[in-house]
Amino acid sequence: MGPGALTRNPLYTTGEFEFFECAELSRRPGDIDTYRIYLDNLLDCLNRTWTEEFTQAGLPFSPPRVRYITKSVGTGCGKYPAGYAAGLYCPRNHTMWILLSKGQLSDPTEFNLFTVIAHEYGHYAQDRAGILYEFARQYPKLSKKRMYDLNRRIELQAECFSGAFIGSVWRSLGRDQLDWDEQLKWIVGDKWHGKAGNIRYWLKRGWYGNGPKVCNTFSAPAARTA
Ligand SMILES: [Zn+2]
Repeated sequence: MGPGALTRNPLYTTGEFEFFECAELSRRPGDIDTYRIYLDNLLDCLNRTWTEEFTQAGLPFSPPRVRYITKSVGTGCGKYPAGYAAGLYCPRNHTMWILLSKGQLSDPTEFNLFTVIAHEYGHYAQDRAGILYEFARQYPKLSKKRMYDLNRRIELQAECFSGAFIGSVWRSLGRDQLDWDEQLKWIVGDKWHGKAGNIRYWLKRGWYGNGPKVCNTFSAPAARTA
């Protein structure tokens, strides 16, 4: 696809996400099996939504591999930084690594895992659309400053994809506005992911745009990807 994979990706030509029911299954505190079932069900929702979108874009697609872990492990992309990130996508083995922390396992109503898995799935979508390949090709040639910038555009796009998915299934979740507001409130930014205000901007933009069409962070002004 070449450099156009970032700025003119076929994913930006597709329509809004189709609405699919996605009920959250119940979890029991400390019961990791119920968490696996909860997340597998959520993955089914993501697979349905994204398969439909890739079909529209005329791109081949199949579901990602996923590993749920409770402690630091080797991922194929280095050792998992436990306590640092709740999820990681490794393009080398096309696998999403999801950390189930003690805190999450103790609170079966928490919504953060949902947003983590939607974000990591966003990276998988970028992988399948040729975006990560082009990113990896350009990245080593860049100055430090431009490395950060390109990395933020990748991350903010994954946020936008995540917001678009969550928005598309929201009315079937039985959550109220507070769960979402809470989620937005606790966002912390850094130079790799963008300022908190920009992370919120792209999450909301995805939500209201309801599809990857509005998630072209690579053509966005620098202020929006700072
Ligand atoms: Zn990410």
